[in-house]
Amino acid sequence: MSGLNAHMDRVEIGSHTEDSLKILVIDDNPADRELYKQFLVDDFDQEYEFSETGLGKEGVKVCNTDDFDCVLLDYNLPDLNGVEFLNLLDRKTKTRIPVIMLTGQGNETVAADALRAGATDYLPKRVVSTESLKRTIGNAVEKFHLRKAIENQTHRLEENNRELIRKHDEIQRFYQTVSHELKTPLTAIKEFASIMLDGLSGDVNDDQKEYLEIIKESCMQMANGVNDLLDITRLETGKLHVELEPNDISKLVNQVVTSMRVIAKHKSIELFTNLDQNLPDVYMDPNRVEQILTNLINNAIKFTEFNGKIRITAEIESDKADFIKVTIADNGCGIAPKDLKHIFERLYQVNPEKNANDTTTSLGGLGLGLNICKELVDLHDGKIDVKSIIGKGSEFSFTLPIYHEETGMSSLIQEVNLDTLIQEQAR
Ligand code: ADP
Repeated sequence: MSGLNAHMDRVEIGSHTEDSLKILVIDDNPADRELYKQFLVDDFDQEYEFSETGLGKEGVKVCNTDDFDCVLLDYNLPDLNGVEFLNLLDRKTKTRIPVIMLTGQGNETVAADALRAGATDYLPKRVVSTESLKRTIGNAVEKFHLRKAIENQTHRLEENNRELIRKHDEIQRFYQTVSHELKTPLTAIKEFASIMLDGLSGDVNDDQKEYLEIIKESCMQMANGVNDLLDITRLETGKLHVELEPNDISKLVNQVVTSMRVIAKHKSIELFTNLDQNLPDVYMDPNRVEQILTNLINNAIKFTEFNGKIRITAEIESDKADFIKVTIADNGCGIAPKDLKHIFERLYQVNPEKNANDTTTSLGGLGLGLNICKELVDLHDGKIDVKSIIGKGSEFSFTLPIYHEETGMSSLIQEVNLDTLIQEQAR
């Protein structure tokens, strides 16, 4: 052989431009190589730049080091067949350069083997023409360009994704640090306001009392927001856990309602309970269920006018007897159907501008409370639900699994264990 690197023939037809395709022709028959090139020269729509060789191993070597847009490969070479050629190519080269196999008559099984080994396409030698070569090369090159574009795009997306995860983690850490840093001074402000209110640092007049109450109330609101932020961070990082144990739900509801009556009194709102007698224990984390109740009752108070009514009920759920359902119903402003379907989404607020500007009613809030309630109820394997009529009121309810004394498990865990047992026995 002569020509390129003393091994390869390089023939350029027409002036080489950015758009010309670099084709490597591998065929031991010089007359065939000449024929393919001639067919392609007759393609007036595309310029080609040719390199050629008659040996498979030589072809493998240049493919692995040089850049070609396409390889035309005779299946039967003196030193290698088409499948052996493909197997010798680097993995990277295979994804970089399309190989079109040129097969002899009646060699369909050979063609199938070649495709399985990584050839992009095949062309029986008897149908080789300007048109068929042009079309097959065009398709193969386009397929590889598209694949390359997809790979590049995937690579970019993966990089962006990694960057987003890094930023997300950074924001999470920032949230966590800020929340922790805010908690200590907030507690101090609230405690000192209480000391002054109680007259322990000297007399305070009525105006000062009112201002100190506002300071205390604002601190509590901020503390709630900070706690919500911390919970959201814990939820996102999978660090929010529930400590489930058998508990008396009626007792807990009564406790929370008693403490919330103090707040409801400011708006002359009546809080009353209707708890079924002798409710069985539920499997719950009392601190977290207290948080859910406080949040829902707090919202009911926030979104109900003066002299309104809020009713809290607890009963065995009618259509799922293994659960207890707690409902908080108010006769407040209600929620429109368009908002109702988004109400448990993170940061969703029905009227955020009003909430932010309305200092008279100090609605406050970050739109995190209901989302946290939903996540907490999920962690108990319960369900949270809402019904509402605008202008009439809202009814939030959630369920908690009943605890079964005999087995020391919640009904749900029993079901899961039973399933596992059935599966084990089936094995
Ligand atoms: P926020 O802390 O901002 O109140 P929540 O997640 O607790 O956030 O509530 C989201 C929104 O749902 C509130 O902004 C309010 O518009 C609406 N909402 C919640 N509870 C009630 C309710 N009992 N009555 C009317 N609207 C409510």
